[in-house]
Amino acid sequence: MKPFDFARADSMDSALAAGAAGGRYIAGGTNLIDLMKLQVETPERLVDIGRIGLDQVEDLEGGVRIGALVPNSDLAAHPLIRSRYPMLSRALLAGASAQLRNKASTGGNLLQRTRCYYFYETAARCNKREPGSGCDAIGGFNRIHAILGGSPSCIATHPSDMAVAMLALDAVVVTARAGGEERRIRLGDLYCLPGDTPWIETLLEPGELITAIELPPPPPGRQLYRKVRDRASYAFALVSVAAAVSVENGTIASAKLAFGGLAPKPWRDPAVEAALVGQPAGTAAFEAAADALLADARGYGHNDFKVVLARRTLIACLRDLAS
Ligand code: SF4
Repeated sequence: MKPFDFARADSMDSALAAGAAGGRYIAGGTNLIDLMKLQVETPERLVDIGRIGLDQVEDLEGGVRIGALVPNSDLAAHPLIRSRYPMLSRALLAGASAQLRNKASTGGNLLQRTRCYYFYETAARCNKREPGSGCDAIGGFNRIHAILGGSPSCIATHPSDMAVAMLALDAVVVTARAGGEERRIRLGDLYCLPGDTPWIETLLEPGELITAIELPPPPPGRQLYRKVRDRASYAFALVSVAAAVSVENGTIASAKLAFGGLAPKPWRDPAVEAALVGQPAGTAAFEAAADALLADARGYGHNDFKVVLARRTLIACLRDLAS
């Protein structure tokens, strides 16, 4: 690990001032410290924001406002989350180990970086880590990589479970910048696809700090989060589905779905929901939704199986929700 300066912010204002001066925020550090040990990231100055508040879950007119520093384990267990957003609670519990969930923050979870093997191996070519160097995953071992939304520059997947559930729940990310200026960004707009610039992952500006995530009141119907992975715990999703579906008199009245493990960002496609809403809750609609999801999917060899796996997982989830 390269030497770095360390400062502890004691207020939001001091944190934002340090961030504006080039400091890198650290909360739980469950991803950043690993990256620093491997010298994938080498920040010169860390700003600990762990003591500036932002650690409450509050009722928000039937929805919730989640402070960015609420630990993942606390969020999963919170009564408002368990009662209104069970898919979010399940997604959190499906992520990482109990020890990591105790440390990882809500804001940090959203900003964790890909687990592409080549990104962590500094001897490999990786456009995300070293712009212009190439991508060893394309043509290499790419079993965990994206089948949707990738580019010739990068096919890494986003690793968060929590973000997938929040995307299906229409989350809004609240940020602050130096001077106190607040910004509200729909979670679906926060992340960037790799295109020619895979090192740019979000719309956040230097020094901008996530302060909260807001969820509107829960959608109607039943909720589900299903994660398919290589082993029962402590593994990232090969495919995950977050879904809220309501069925009235045999017809799908509403559907909100998001997917993990398939793309460089948590993935939501309006065409999937359009294929379901207004249709009889049955195999034809479920197949049409899978067709819509995977219309532009492509495998890169080792990850070809994800196209089939995503189809089967989505259809199985819809059957469970509609039954
Ligand atoms: Fe790097 Fe992306 Fe290629 Fe992985 S897929 S090696 S993160 S450029």
